[in-house]
Amino acid sequence: MATSPPTDMPTRPLISAAVVGRANRGRVLQALFDLGPTSRAELARYTGVNRSTITAIVQPLVDNGFLLEGAPLPAGGAGGKPARPLTLSPTASPIGAVQVLQGRVRSALVSMTGDILAQDTRRLPVTGRRAREATDAIGASLEAVLAAAKRPPFGVGVAVGGMVDTDRGSIVEVNLAPALDGLALGPALASRIGLPVLLDHHPRALLLGDRWFGPGRGISTFAVLYTGEVLGGALMLGGHLHRGPAGAGGELGHTFVQVDGELCRCGRRGCWETIATLDWLRRRAAEAGLPDAARISTAKLCRLAAKDPAAARLRDTYARNLAVGIANLQQTLAANRYVLHGDAARGGEPFATAIQQHARDLVPEHPGGRPTVVLGGDDDRAALLGAAGLVLSDQLQFTV
Ligand SMILES: [Zn+2]
Repeated sequence: MATSPPTDMPTRPLISAAVVGRANRGRVLQALFDLGPTSRAELARYTGVNRSTITAIVQPLVDNGFLLEGAPLPAGGAGGKPARPLTLSPTASPIGAVQVLQGRVRSALVSMTGDILAQDTRRLPVTGRRAREATDAIGASLEAVLAAAKRPPFGVGVAVGGMVDTDRGSIVEVNLAPALDGLALGPALASRIGLPVLLDHHPRALLLGDRWFGPGRGISTFAVLYTGEVLGGALMLGGHLHRGPAGAGGELGHTFVQVDGELCRCGRRGCWETIATLDWLRRRAAEAGLPDAARISTAKLCRLAAKDPAAARLRDTYARNLAVGIANLQQTLAANRYVLHGDAARGGEPFATAIQQHARDLVPEHPGGRPTVVLGGDDDRAALLGAAGLVLSDQLQFTV
């Protein structure tokens, strides 16, 4: 039997005022990150939020030291009050950032302006069943940098080079670090330090590092590719970091590029990883008789290519193999801008341009635009800034 709702049930608006307020605050703060010093009037124009709301949002942030108010600019011809540009304060509450690497943990204290204020690196026990020791090492490293904070930190972001369950804040699997598999690192750190802790996959942290503080600043749609022993990536689409359910998306390295191709370490065949990682490059370098093939990197290959035609051919094929996956992403998502990190980025501008040219040849015409391949900043710094970006994105309701 159907039941009718009680007639005295309160009606609720679809979106509450609190949600709108939080979204507007996020837009204003995002604009300050993207534009640098900005007057209230410019903020109102850029975000589409009215002046009185802007004032209501920024005044408490000026009062509590999160924003600084610059010297008055000369008034315009129309007279009125001179504009005072607002900027993020380098002494506002900082953010804790952690990078969990194979055998090592790095922590940093990051300011709102993207400066690294303190750093700590220590060994991480990763073999056998040593989850407790690993958690202690990560916790101690984090505490060492948080001790340098002059104001209570906003929270802590953790970038992990492996599969992560972002809902539970736990590590699913890290290659060659079995002690970390299944570790509920987020909750363990949160209870140890009493701050919110966010965990995510390393390429997604690189993406946020680029978005907040690097070549993705002010750009709402772009992709990050990390290459080396493995091939990973992350996508920013329309201002949102794409994670998939519980952070399971973004396994770009295991998208298929060749039906029934070479066997991948994941057990399937023809994954992008089978043709666009160092393992492929080193095998082909050995076949081509290149010197020190077992340890060759993209940077070394590019140096060799200047004087060795076989190295030049391999360099071109490797660039094309990387471009194949980019072409697929371009066709599917039109991300347009692809930021390189890891080994391929150390091939420098000429190698990025070679990848870009192949990607453009593979996707000669696309209504969304032409793919552009650019270099990301220093990987370690980008990962730490990106770990901090995880907290910013969460706290500020990051939307563009
Ligand atoms: Zn695979």
